[in-house]
Parts: sequence; structure tokens; C-alpha cells
Amino acid sequence: MATYEYRCPRDGDFEVRFPIGAAAARVTCSACGADAARVFSAPLLTRTPQSLAAAIDRTERSAETPEVVTSVPPRPRPARRRQASPALARLPRP
Ligand SMILES: [Zn+2]
Repeated sequence: MATYEYRCPRDGDFEVRFPIGAAAARVTCSACGADAARVFSAPLLTRTPQSLAAAIDRTERSAETPEVVTSVPPRPRPARRRQASPALARLPRP
């Protein structure tokens, strides 16, 4: 059995299951009884944004093999003092 898509002019799209290759070109809508034509749509070809796909992949990967560290990360360096302008360095200190 396969799922085929039909479009009723009044009720919109709906799906009907038929044996493969036995789908009728038109069926009657179960809601209103009108004639509904078969609709061909691309199956499973939606394009997922790359950033979303990467996030989904990372989530699935972390469930099986979470990323772990093997050593303690280095201590963060203390923030360096901003280097004053060379002209200011030549000024007399109080
Ligand atoms: Zn209908």
C-alpha cells in the first residue's frame, strides 16, 4: 500500500491509500463527495537549513557519544592591561 495525495477544490488536500500502482486519477472527496484530482508532490525533498541540520546532527551525536575532554582546559589568562599610547608612556608619572 502507498499513500496518494488528492486535492478537493473545496476541502483541500487529503491522502488515500491504494496498492502501489493502483491509484486512481480522481477520487471522490470523503467530506463533500466532490471530484478530487490526484496531486503529485515531491516526497521528502524539503530543504533543511544547514545550521538547523548541523544542530540536529550535533544533538543526535551527543546522545550516543558526547564530546568529552581528556584533560583539564588551561586556566584562562588574566586580562592584559591595555597598552597605553607610546606618547602617554613618556609623560612624567606622579
Ligand atoms: Zn471535499
